[in-house]
Amino acid sequence: MSVSTDQDTELVARARALATGFADKAAHWDQTRNYCWDNVRAMQQAGLMGMTIPQQYGGLGASYLTAVQVIEEIAKSCTLSARILVEANMGGISAIMNYGSERQKQFCAPIVLAGDKPAICITEPDAGSAATEMTTSARKRGGRYILNGTKHWITGGGVSKLYLVFARVFNEQDQELGIGGFIVHRDPDRGIDPKGMTIGPRERTMGLCGMPETVIHFENLELDTEFAVVPPSGLKRGFADLMNAYNSQRVGAGTIAMGVAAGAIDHAKRYLKERQQFGRPLAEFQGLQWMLADMDVAIHAARLMLHEAARSAELPGNTFPNKTLAAKAKLFASEQAIKVVNDALQMFGARGYGDKEPLERMYRDVRMFTIGGGTAQVLKTQIAGSLLDMKVPQTRDGYSGTSNANRPLLAAAE
Ligand SMILES: Cc1cc2nc3c(=O)[nH]c(=O)nc-3n(C[C@H](O)[C@H](O)[C@H](O)COP(=O)(O)OP(=O)(O)OC[C@H]3O[C@@H](n4cnc5c(N)ncnc54)[C@H](O)[C@@H]3O)c2cc1C
Repeated sequence: MSVSTDQDTELVARARALATGFADKAAHWDQTRNYCWDNVRAMQQAGLMGMTIPQQYGGLGASYLTAVQVIEEIAKSCTLSARILVEANMGGISAIMNYGSERQKQFCAPIVLAGDKPAICITEPDAGSAATEMTTSARKRGGRYILNGTKHWITGGGVSKLYLVFARVFNEQDQELGIGGFIVHRDPDRGIDPKGMTIGPRERTMGLCGMPETVIHFENLELDTEFAVVPPSGLKRGFADLMNAYNSQRVGAGTIAMGVAAGAIDHAKRYLKERQQFGRPLAEFQGLQWMLADMDVAIHAARLMLHEAARSAELPGNTFPNKTLAAKAKLFASEQAIKVVNDALQMFGARGYGDKEPLERMYRDVRMFTIGGGTAQVLKTQIAGSLLDMKVPQTRDGYSGTSNANRPLLAAAE
């Protein structure tokens, strides 16, 4: 259930107020590559961490539409904080709050509401777009699951307390049942450091530098069966269910990109009036006016698509944003945002390329959104599949089956 309109407006207003302060320190998190704990505390106190968690579990029950409006405000100033908000309200936590057992919901909600950004662990060194080729396994042994495998590019590895780990599930007889999710809790400050889970090296990324992106190794990690998230359609179709929750994260990711671009447009508007060349403000040159208009139209369209996708979660029968609307919105928003931030940087000339203005950081930050969370190419394949009303196998032998039923699952991360 969504919060009232007054509360929606209040949450967006709180986000706008926080964003003003966040802008001043965004360069600091980028340069020091530190996680922005100060901002996390502020967002937690403002009720933004876990705002989409239902009220009966202590959250505000905010809709995805409210969440994306909040995320846009934060993304205009600090991409890193917006990224944290997405993962504290969408994706892994949404999967748990919708598909988890009562015990799992009661366990995870307070951790997020206290300021955790859960990590979602799907990608492996040899399974990126081909996510269903993951080899991480969860084997049932004596009433417990034993987790083995390596995940890569895990956002928040080492700082997150909750990890939703995707693995191939095997029963006691070693028969494979499908792909499922497993909740792993890690909080070394409180002495919770699961044996068999190692946070590997951190990647040095071009943007979003304050966010750790790490390898995570699981070696005979033992988990109680109560930590297995079994989606409604069971393990055989479970991956598709779990990835359904990921549609909300896609809308969130597209919103961050759109928000960064909206912030870049604000900077451009300011600079076009400030900077004089040929005895006139840049704002008087039609070449730049038209560029600015194109930028604004692109971001306006992206915002409408993202809002439509977020709102689709509220349609009768839906729990999450519609898969195709989410794919279209994330694809369009991320591609347009990269162009728009690039154009804004261009308007600043050399100053845009230097680090006294935020454009170079925003450009580095926004670049990742056509990659993480389903690449632009994978999303196009998914959209084409929906247009043609067919699964579009990506493996060489994908079309060799004689009927739809025999066709393999779409290998790409849906
Ligand atoms: C900053 C960042 C954060 C991330 N965070 C997480 C996280 O928290 N959890 C997580 O599980 N993963 C995370 N990822 C991983 C992300 O989901 C993968 O990068 C993505 O799925 C693509 O996989 P890949 O990088 O291995 O690229 P590959 O799959 O190797 O693809 C390489 C290129 O080939 C293209 N390609 C691949 N297959 C096809 C095809 N069939 N048709 C056309 N083109 C194709 C891709 O689009 C891409 O351009 C993150 C990535 C980044 C960059």
